[in-house]
Amino acid sequence: MIKKFPRPCLVSSKCIEFEACRYNGLIIKSSLINNLKKYADFFPVCPEVEIGLGIPRDPIHLEEDQGKIMLIQPSTGSDYTIEMSDFADSFLKSVKGVDGFILKNKSPSCGVKAVKVYPLGGNARPKTDGVGLFADAVFRCFPQLPMEDEGRLRNFHLRENFLTRIYTLADYRENVENGDFGDILDYHRKNKLLFLSYSQIYSRKLGRLVSDSGKISLEDLIPKYREMMMEMMLIDPLPPANVNVLMHAFGHFSKDLNHQEKSFFLESLEKYRQGRIPLLVIQNLLKSWIIRFNNRYLTDQTFFEPYPEELMEITFI
Ligand code: SF4
Repeated sequence: MIKKFPRPCLVSSKCIEFEACRYNGLIIKSSLINNLKKYADFFPVCPEVEIGLGIPRDPIHLEEDQGKIMLIQPSTGSDYTIEMSDFADSFLKSVKGVDGFILKNKSPSCGVKAVKVYPLGGNARPKTDGVGLFADAVFRCFPQLPMEDEGRLRNFHLRENFLTRIYTLADYRENVENGDFGDILDYHRKNKLLFLSYSQIYSRKLGRLVSDSGKISLEDLIPKYREMMMEMMLIDPLPPANVNVLMHAFGHFSKDLNHQEKSFFLESLEKYRQGRIPLLVIQNLLKSWIIRFNNRYLTDQTFFEPYPEELMEITFI
């Protein structure tokens, strides 16, 4: 089963594997980004360098004054809040066809979560629930697009979800957005099981949208379907939903398998439900039967391989 995958377009913090542009002149290593370079297109950006700060530079941090977040360089007392907001707005307006963001964790500019925010003056103990100013602008401009930091992407589950979302969106952008009604029907058909793993309700709504495609123009259908799909993919797929999908796929083979094979599958499924083995194990078991019985419908289902296998590593450091 050799599949052709789209190439997601990703905006990333430039200091992760692209350029030694951190405040201390260093670069951050990430084997995920290194691997992804072969399978995705990147727009690396360093917001701090873009607003005129040099390399190396004195560190900056976030300060809060009566609910207002500011980007301050303690050594000079300079306030870079307006420069950073202006740069973020103009940069984010200029990027087109982006499928996701990978940003540097804990940075006062790029941090997605858990960024230190000091009280005004910067001398007291900081809170640690802030968002970097550039990342905050991304949240506002692209609230439904996948955005993670490289630290969180070391977690297998978060990485799997992120990769699934960016490849599903990239496929839509490459194969549906300039296509016809047939392309959107094909897209919906091959993603049917994947969408069911996110939400039965959304999956049905998307199904109704494409089956009513005669009543709506293609120009209206394409953005409407994309928006609903992105909304659905904000949901975290949980084991019970995956179990339903796996049982549905298993139903395709139940009359072809012997008693022992069926028992083994059901026992493995129970272990997955209890969190004792990963989803990948059950998916691979089903894949072996997809090949053996040459099941064309399931071969095409993205649920079994939503992104290139080369990115499916259990650990990235
Ligand atoms: S975290 Fe963002 S602003 Fe800081 S060095 Fe990296 S890319 Fe530049």
